[in-house]
Amino acid sequence: MPKFIRIRGARTNNLKNLDVDLQRGRLTVFAGVSGSGKSSLVFDTIAAEAGHQLNETFPPFTRNRLPRWTRPETDEIAGLSPVVLIDQRRIGGNARSTVGTITDAWTYLRLLFSRAGTPYVGESNRFSFNDPAGMCPSCSGLGEIVVSAVERFLDLDKSLADGAILLPGFGNGGYWYSQYADIGAFDPATPLRDWTPDERAALLYGGEHAARLGVRPPKDYEGVVERFERIYLHTSDDLSDRKRETIERFTRSQTCPDCHGDRLNEAARTATVLGRTIGEMARMEITELAALVEEVSDPAVAPVVAALGDKLRAMITIGLGYLHLGRATPTLSGGESQRVKTVKHLGSSLVEMLYVFDEPTVGLHPHDIASMTALLQRLRDKGNTVLVVEHDPAVMAIADEIVEIGPDAGAGGGRLVFQGSFDGLRSAGTATSAALAARTPLNTAPRPPKGVITVTGATRNNLQNLTVDVPAQVLTVLTGVAGSGKSSLAAELVAQHDAIVLDQRPVSVNRRSTPVTYTGIAGAVRKLFARHSGLPAGMFSANSAGACPDCKGLGVIYTDLAFMDGQENVCETCHGRRFTDEVLRHRVNGLSIADLDDLTIADALDRLPDRHIRDGLRHLDRAGLGYLRLGQPLTTLSGGECQRVKMARELREATEPALYVLDEPTTGLHLRDIAALLGVLDQLVEQGHTVVVIEHNLDVIRHADWIIDLGPGPGRHGGRILYQGPVTDLKGTATAAALHAD
Ligand code: ADP
Ligand code: ADP
Ligand code: ZN
Ligand code: ZN
Repeated sequence: MPKFIRIRGARTNNLKNLDVDLQRGRLTVFAGVSGSGKSSLVFDTIAAEAGHQLNETFPPFTRNRLPRWTRPETDEIAGLSPVVLIDQRRIGGNARSTVGTITDAWTYLRLLFSRAGTPYVGESNRFSFNDPAGMCPSCSGLGEIVVSAVERFLDLDKSLADGAILLPGFGNGGYWYSQYADIGAFDPATPLRDWTPDERAALLYGGEHAARLGVRPPKDYEGVVERFERIYLHTSDDLSDRKRETIERFTRSQTCPDCHGDRLNEAARTATVLGRTIGEMARMEITELAALVEEVSDPAVAPVVAALGDKLRAMITIGLGYLHLGRATPTLSGGESQRVKTVKHLGSSLVEMLYVFDEPTVGLHPHDIASMTALLQRLRDKGNTVLVVEHDPAVMAIADEIVEIGPDAGAGGGRLVFQGSFDGLRSAGTATSAALAARTPLNTAPRPPKGVITVTGATRNNLQNLTVDVPAQVLTVLTGVAGSGKSSLAAELVAQHDAIVLDQRPVSVNRRSTPVTYTGIAGAVRKLFARHSGLPAGMFSANSAGACPDCKGLGVIYTDLAFMDGQENVCETCHGRRFTDEVLRHRVNGLSIADLDDLTIADALDRLPDRHIRDGLRHLDRAGLGYLRLGQPLTTLSGGECQRVKMARELREATEPALYVLDEPTTGLHLRDIAALLGVLDQLVEQGHTVVVIEHNLDVIRHADWIIDLGPGPGRHGGRILYQGPVTDLKGTATAAALHAD
């Protein structure tokens, strides 16, 4: 086995021919300001090459079904192992996936019930809700059923002729209209409110209700509800987008009346171990379940109990003890998803793997971070190489080695600026060393609120019937350990007051959307070039006569290869520059129209003299995104960057005072950039907005005008308010302890 992962001449994204040797079997943390190139090195170069090499070992047929890795631009990478990527992408939208199934804990629990259950049961797939042998027949193992939301079907103030039936296809002129209006049973001109209740029931349900009517509808009469369910719900057709939308509008999910959400058939639901059903165990907090299964004394199942116990304890160690195995994974937060994925790999007996983590501390209170770092160390001690992109000093402190990429963001970054120990980093004079020494001061002069926004009787998830005043037009930070109820309280605020959520979801799914298209400055850019060149503005558009005739302004030529991946080659006529030579000759401050794609927003503000361009871009710059290139597809932005783009939009566009809610805006932010983020939050407040932020970052907490601290523990041990007031008086809670220790 080689001792190092050797990288020579890495050039992915902004990397500048970077050379580095990383020790195998060690824990390396990658630091550097946001946009410096950490992800480009760790994910887009190292993990991508490792993934690519692994795929190469499979035959083409299998390879086509594996995740695609784009081969990085490097001269050499050697010493890699199979890679496991543990990022914050949420765990799929699959309703059949639960915390139990994804961690394999459920497999052991099923085994336990099949071998030690009363009555004695036999096969373990009888407890699987994804297997016909175990699933509830009414909900097919989903725990929920979709039912008609009948109250949304009709507009009682209208007559049939006016379109009282709101379902598509049932209104006047619709395909089904005459089946109701023209059969002589109903008066199409009278508003439904003036019908008898029997008449309305007959319209909806037909059958017996119809039989009770004076005027009998035809024999094959089908009520509106029956017909809707037959066409939309009890069909095996592939659903069109329009049908899907209709279903969403006119139905709702409810807990399955047969299994009450346990997802299992009757035999599986009623078997017990230690007097408890498997459904009861699925609803217990993992901490309690771990204690319970230790009581199983049957020696025949000792290995199963041991394996299940290991799995549950790993979840507790990583700060997930407050979850239950039955929790559907699509409802987990990004940080929770990442920790669940970590547990899955902890139990693996593979060694000499390459584990790559993206900010594993996201969503973790300082109080919970120690268990995460212990876990990273355990993975390393099993003989794996662990690479972690992370801004949190607590993680840097336990690294065997720190690699800093910098010195700056974007084109100003992409180089190795430090490699060595955490102590060495402190005196290395890099952006990270400087940030480690600086601290945001405690806010001793909080801004006075202008009124309050009250959340009343909040009971969502674990909230213990909270009524709380959020001060208006100041910065409030919601704090508390993971699972204490911060997101639940924020969701309640949104539900009761229609707040605007600035989240980390993608800004755009369109690959052609860039900072230029997003800010709408494309026209101003073309006019600027037209003024300087004397050419018509249209010539500077990539779909005009000024575009390269061979690639039609795309810069690349696609070749479709029937059995292999399509090929994308740089256009040989324009060398990817997208315009004709005639157009490219014209320059503004030394820049051709093709140079703009590579220009950063900050540089554009300096070098493109135009008021409209300035107005469009300066908010992105103020939100700390000055390092983005004008031509960078918005689909390549990280979650944190998407969130800052949304903040910039609000800075620019919001005219009325609004209520903003942000969940961990420091995600992906270097310590140095947190000052810029606080600046943006302050600007929102100065514009008269109310800002509520969920945060663990101590700099943000110190800067708050008002703190609402939740806890004391996670899940049902939390959901209470421990403190509300200025940050200077916060005492006696886990958050206070973390502040004082920092
Ligand atoms: P970090 O992880 O340090 O925040 P990144 O490696 O994500 O930085 O980004 C380094 C630079 O490369 C930034 O200027 C970023 O905008 C750019 N970049 C990142 N991903 C892509 C991509 N897929 N295509 C083009 N540019 C990218
Ligand atoms: P925090 O934001 O402080 O980490 P949350 O508000 O996300 O905490 O969670 C509080 C409690 O509610 C936790 O026990 C969590 O598992 C539970 N919870 C959160 N979301 C859901 C959900 N969609 N379904 C069921 N339980 C949930
Ligand atoms: Zn069911
Ligand atoms: Zn071309």
